[in-house]
Amino acid sequence: MTSLADLPIRDDLRGLTPYGAPQKAVRIALNVNENTHPVPDEVVAHVTRAVERALRSVNRYPDREFTALREQLAGYLSTASASPVTVAREQIWAANGSNEVIQHLLQAFGGPGRTVLGFPPTYSMHAIIAAGTGTTWVTGQRDADFRLSPATAAAAVDRHDPDVVFLCAPNNPTGTPLGLDTIAAVYEASRGIVMVDEAYAEFMPAGEPDALSLLPGRERLVVSRTMSKAFAFAGARLGYLAADPAVIDALRLVRLPYHLSALTQAAAVAALEHAPTMLRTVDAIREQRDRLLVELAGLGYAPHASWANFVLFGGVADPQATFEHLLAHDILIRDVGLPNHLRVTAGTPAETTEFLDVLARMAR
Ligand SMILES: *Cc1c(COP(=O)(O)O)cnc(C)c1O
Repeated sequence: MTSLADLPIRDDLRGLTPYGAPQKAVRIALNVNENTHPVPDEVVAHVTRAVERALRSVNRYPDREFTALREQLAGYLSTASASPVTVAREQIWAANGSNEVIQHLLQAFGGPGRTVLGFPPTYSMHAIIAAGTGTTWVTGQRDADFRLSPATAAAAVDRHDPDVVFLCAPNNPTGTPLGLDTIAAVYEASRGIVMVDEAYAEFMPAGEPDALSLLPGRERLVVSRTMSKAFAFAGARLGYLAADPAVIDALRLVRLPYHLSALTQAAAVAALEHAPTMLRTVDAIREQRDRLLVELAGLGYAPHASWANFVLFGGVADPQATFEHLLAHDILIRDVGLPNHLRVTAGTPAETTEFLDVLARMAR
């Protein structure tokens, strides 16, 4: 047994730490923004039959172009968006989680000698994937309360002249909405790829336009989505993006052949055939999120406005102590490293109640 430091590892990886949200066996896990409702039984039955069919030809490599899956994803996006958008199959890319989609993006458009601009606090994996692909991570500041105005964002682009810009809408870990005007301003200011990570798009208020509506005429714009959150499919690993077909051609250059297994493709297609059923818990989750905003404030904490399925709250005197106290009650939430803040996922009504009850009984 040797240590990492003794290995001939890439110099730029020395001293880095891997993504490490604690994975603990607890009764109430509200730490990684999963949908805490299981997949409905009728969908489980349908997916099971689809996977069984796929198993009968698993001696063969899967469809490298995951054609049926791209068709389903394009159809879903074309009906799910609040804006009248049509997304074609040629505009879709998918991989094992949107993390891999983002990795493909940086393999193609980032890499050594190139920069990606992000706006922390934001999704921690953005900087980690930058490091893994040898892309230099540079950062811009946010405005008050984690907002990001068109002027602030465009000024950061002017200052850094990045090859890639990562936006996150709504932003993780803060829940902050991002205006389409900011996305458009960043696009205008930049010469590179602009990716909007919309992992939580389904939790936005009904009727709010999403970044898909900005795609027409913007060939450097990329909108990333996932089945890990609203779709309750985190364990299946399916993320995707929509962009100009030329961007998709670029991603083909860096993906490994057959990166999406036949079983993943079959499961995701079958699940998407039941999209409305898969998404029927979204309203209930939004309700618990809004309840968290009200009740956390009632307990004297300072929750931040959220359009996602989680709430970041300030006013925590000792985040580590509160985290440990909840854990002692079998409740796992997230310390995202922001002073005096913690983040909690909106779970089922019962999970939310128990979380709030334990907090209420705790001396602050
Ligand atoms: C959870 C999350 C993802 C999802 O990643 P997957 O690899 O699809 O599970 C992507 N982006 C953000 C901002 C997230 O919070």
